[in-house]
Amino acid sequence: KSGFISIIGRPNVGKSTFLNRVVGQKIAIMSDKPQTTRNKVQGVVTTEDSQMVFIDTPGIHKPKHKLGDFMMKVAKNTLKEVDLVLFMANADESLGKGDEFIMDMLRDSGTPVVLVLNKIDLIHPDELIGVIDTYRGLMDFDEIVPISALQGNNVERLMEVIKEYL
Ligand code: GDP
Ligand code: MG
Repeated sequence: KSGFISIIGRPNVGKSTFLNRVVGQKIAIMSDKPQTTRNKVQGVVTTEDSQMVFIDTPGIHKPKHKLGDFMMKVAKNTLKEVDLVLFMANADESLGKGDEFIMDMLRDSGTPVVLVLNKIDLIHPDELIGVIDTYRGLMDFDEIVPISALQGNNVERLMEVIKEYL
């Protein structure tokens, strides 16, 4: 199984921390190499039975007012080209305009979206249930996976979920 995964989310939600944890060092060198004009490979994960190529999707995390119609189209087309979108959010912070903007883009993309709620090490499990409910009410995610990219909690589970969509 192999496929392309776009990992998007507001700054500081933990995207780089997650990638650093799962991406092999040797291949991480590729991360600065532009793949096409619009997709940038951030890292590749190769296991016995799968290969996952994580790419950056420019334009998706920019605030609405800074994006022209053309950039919006480019960003939306990129979403259609990947097998899966990982939408990463901070479980410890309330939703912002940035999250809403991203969800607007994802909602009608036709590509499966997994919500990754990161930084669960910072909140109480009871609180996490409320956070999950909030996101569920906003968008019909294909799957919701809480993790701690920093401590590694549930990261293996997330990798298994990703594989299901390749
Ligand atoms: P990015 O901007 O989305 O790439 O976010 P970074 O990976 O650079 O992380 C931003 C900050 O959040 C850094 O200080 C990380 O150490 C911290 N961070 C990332 N993941 C976690 C997590 O699971 N738990 C905690 N407590 N901090 C995290
Ligand atoms: Mg980063």
